[in-house]
Amino acid sequence: MRCALCGRESDRSLCARCYAERNSIVEVGKVRVETCPRCGFYRVGGRWRDISYNSAVEESLRKSLVVHPEFEVKEVELFLNGDRGYVKLKGKLWGEELEQFCEFKIYIKKILCERCSREAGGYYESIVQLRAKNRKLSREEIEITNSIVVEVINGERENMKAFLTKVVERKEGVDYYIGSRDIGRKISRKIAERFGGTITESKKICGRKDGRDVFRFTYSVRLPEYRKGDIVKYKDRLVYITNPRLGRGISIPEMNSVSAGGRVVVKREEIEEGIAVNVDDYAAEIIKTESGETVVAESTGNIKVGDTVNLFKYKGKYYLIPKLI
Ligand SMILES: [Zn+2]
Ligand SMILES: [Zn+2]
Repeated sequence: MRCALCGRESDRSLCARCYAERNSIVEVGKVRVETCPRCGFYRVGGRWRDISYNSAVEESLRKSLVVHPEFEVKEVELFLNGDRGYVKLKGKLWGEELEQFCEFKIYIKKILCERCSREAGGYYESIVQLRAKNRKLSREEIEITNSIVVEVINGERENMKAFLTKVVERKEGVDYYIGSRDIGRKISRKIAERFGGTITESKKICGRKDGRDVFRFTYSVRLPEYRKGDIVKYKDRLVYITNPRLGRGISIPEMNSVSAGGRVVVKREEIEEGIAVNVDDYAAEIIKTESGETVVAESTGNIKVGDTVNLFKYKGKYYLIPKLI
């Protein structure tokens, strides 16, 4: 048989090419894209996602593209120019290679995503309270915690409750208001993993929804009194804290690795530096770097004349701190 129009050899009265010229074998329905003007996310299949404009159009096109059931598509190429889209499909119709081209308009709708509208409305499910036992928080601890909060939240980009509503610095510590309960819990665990300390969980009814009580959770993280480098008095001996998270340190002056707790007697900021000028089995004469003052400290046996050492004063006596840290 020959094609009635072009006369080429064909199994049908119209060959695939002539058929495709007169009938649309590819059609594009309405292509809609919803995007959040605040965060730039796109809604795809009912979910807000962190994808590109191209991917969002592609997803929408997938649903609105209608192809002749016998056209076997092998390749799809998409070109975008603002709200205009062009799609090229290559494939086979009745055994014949064809290329089809469609132009379409993209309807862009701007709508606030769930996260941005919650965030703007001051929504939160949990509060992470950062506190320290018997002392003030250091700037460093606050800064590290801030980065933990950011890191955990950024790790859940597409979670519509992953956001920080506000941060309140109080006299006793810092409160972080978090959109999700789970993220609040996760953050509190990360803080305790980093610094040691305890977490206390509590909840409060904040309303009712669908006949059930809605709670707000508070995760209070209390950092240990001691930090790395502080000196504590523990079981009648002085301990230099090396790992506050595990509660470990080095006993002074014995220099043994021991478990530690207790009360801080010398803060790490109070530790001084000096140079050993005279050393015997019992004592070391040290010149303090800052003041030039010469003092005598209990010797640890493992320092030599000329060594730079760290030392602290406790109850009128000077002690040396192990060099390793
Ligand atoms: Zn033909
Ligand atoms: Zn948004």
